[in-house]
Amino acid sequence: MRPAILNPLFAEVAALKGVGSAQVRQLARLKITRALDLAFHLPTMVIDRLAVDTLDESLVGRPVVVPLTPARHERGGPRSPLRVAAVDRGGQWVDLTFFGQTANWAQTKLPIGVEKRVIGKLDRYGQKLQIAHPEVLAMDSAAPPGLREPVYPLTEGVTNRRMGQLVGEALTRVPALAEWIEPSVIERYGWASFTESLHAAHRMEGGRDRLAYDELLANQLALLLVRADTRARRGRALAGNGRLVQPLIASLPWQLTNAQNRVIGEITGDMAQAQPMLRLLQGDVGSGKTMVGLIAMLTAVEAGTQAALLAPTEILARQHHATLTKVAAGLPVRIELLTGRDKGKAREALLADLAAGRIDILVGTHAIFQEAVAYDDLGLVVVDEQHRFGVAQRLMLANKGRVPPHVLAMTATPIPRSLALTRFGEMDQSQIDERPPGRQPIETRVTARFEDVAAGLARHVEGGGQAYWVCPLVDGTEDADEAAATTRAAFLKGRLGEGRVGLVHGKMKGPDKDAVMADFAAGRLAVLVATTVIEVGVDVPNATLMIIEAAERFGLAQLHQLRGRVGRGSGQSVCMLLRGEELSETARSRLKLMRETNDGFRIAEEDLRLRGAGEILGTRQSGEEAFRFADPERVQKFVTMARDDGRLLLDRDGGLDGARGQAARVLLYLFERDAGVALLRSG
Ligand code: ADP
Ligand code: MG
Repeated sequence: MRPAILNPLFAEVAALKGVGSAQVRQLARLKITRALDLAFHLPTMVIDRLAVDTLDESLVGRPVVVPLTPARHERGGPRSPLRVAAVDRGGQWVDLTFFGQTANWAQTKLPIGVEKRVIGKLDRYGQKLQIAHPEVLAMDSAAPPGLREPVYPLTEGVTNRRMGQLVGEALTRVPALAEWIEPSVIERYGWASFTESLHAAHRMEGGRDRLAYDELLANQLALLLVRADTRARRGRALAGNGRLVQPLIASLPWQLTNAQNRVIGEITGDMAQAQPMLRLLQGDVGSGKTMVGLIAMLTAVEAGTQAALLAPTEILARQHHATLTKVAAGLPVRIELLTGRDKGKAREALLADLAAGRIDILVGTHAIFQEAVAYDDLGLVVVDEQHRFGVAQRLMLANKGRVPPHVLAMTATPIPRSLALTRFGEMDQSQIDERPPGRQPIETRVTARFEDVAAGLARHVEGGGQAYWVCPLVDGTEDADEAAATTRAAFLKGRLGEGRVGLVHGKMKGPDKDAVMADFAAGRLAVLVATTVIEVGVDVPNATLMIIEAAERFGLAQLHQLRGRVGRGSGQSVCMLLRGEELSETARSRLKLMRETNDGFRIAEEDLRLRGAGEILGTRQSGEEAFRFADPERVQKFVTMARDDGRLLLDRDGGLDGARGQAARVLLYLFERDAGVALLRSG
């Protein structure tokens, strides 16, 4: 249970002074629902005002607080602003301008001859000094604004002043908390306590490093607790005897790469232990992870258990099923597919076979882990394109078998080390750092000439080639993306012939999507127009041209993924990044990087720096982006230390019972990483 000391912070915002239902709704738009969210709602900048008695040219551009005496009210035409000519204590004139205010208003608010305290930014307008829509207070006003005013992210209906008040009140609910950070770390950086640091961060006077560290420590402790819990469970040692894997390898038309062999060794080594495996396999697109996954699954089957392969999309699940069935055709294994789409009798029969152990390998989307799906004896779960699954979903897997199954996660998105630690810190890591031989590097070109690209596509298709055409990320909404793809498909049909162009987008029904994909894979379609649904995993080796429209709107990691759809056979592949006419400097250099390198890790590092973790992991929309304070730079700076700090603490006090352990429990609740605490209890 949450420590009582934190309860005031977890109170709903409605409990704060003057917050009615309208304000609750306004704040909710900023995802602020509890006092905690306000206390953690940090300003983005601070206005530094200068208090002066007289104005002059040198102050132009500065926010000031100055006593002024109105001398004249001027109203131009109906559409021009209200203008009040005022004079400071040294005789300098300045115009105060207000839009949408009446002369009546000016007479009460700024009566002629009465000195007022005026707050705003001093500008020049022609020859004159001016302050546009200033704030006006009586000279003896009880609450003049501070000279330093933090500026908060706002939403309609909540002014900055109001937000400041709300935050201030929420901050009074933050108690003094016992220290959870290792003393040597505190000392090294000279950090203040958590509570002081939070206050300082709101004044924009430091504190953010410590808050980021706290958040990373909570994150690492949570992952380490998950890891410790998994490790403490008894799984089952699965050793293969080679009866399936050996004939499979012998039947392949190529050799496994050294890297593939190495990671297969790491994986089967883990599986041969009674502790459940928890391993992340990283490998750039096209490095041959699927084969590694299949070999792991066949090993589990050799050892007498079942295996499951979980894919993030139906397209990918279907494709995996087709590939595995084909590759394993001569082997005595039964591989089946289950998606959310399967209903009725066929589904019943399949589930019965699964429960009876008549199915060896089940491939599918998350449907394969629903309540109703029971395995006879699940020994291994392989999760493809792992980055889309959160820790919670991974935890769920642990409860599916008779004993916790081994888990192998695979991701084609190269993940920088710092990010791998924060996201997958509970797992061991393996890497395929070598591509199958004979692959020609993909040639990437950047151009703004649509006509040339369209003509190039026509030539490519006439020569018997196949191509993808990926449509812009319009505004992240499926409707708009779909519209863009539909328009483009219609255009290309007009150009290349109705029957040569297919279209897939996220809103199509599953069977329709499959039919189009199948036509493209079989070569019946020359061009596949798509939204980003084809981003991960799709494998059509004959497609050697990739065109990405409005490429500047995509994340780099995403472009790399998309580009990885070509270059999968032995032919020379080309990726055309079709850009807009007007590009910012950053956009230009990002596209240049894509042209220069095929190195997924370099690209991912750059994306992490430029756009943050959610972009790389594809989780931005899903709201799984869980860090409030730890920006990419601070993650890089502090995560390793937070990891060591957390590990040291758990080594000394695995039950988090000691004084620092208790403090760390509070930390876990404070940053809402407390699922791990529940594991402590049960364990
Ligand atoms: P990933 O999932 O890592 O992107 P895949 O497993 O889809 O890559 O493999 C890409 C392609 O390379 C597939 O067509 C696969 O059959 C082929 N492949 C895998 N391993 C090798 C290898 N060692 N040599 C040659 N081709 C390979
Ligand atoms: Mg793959």
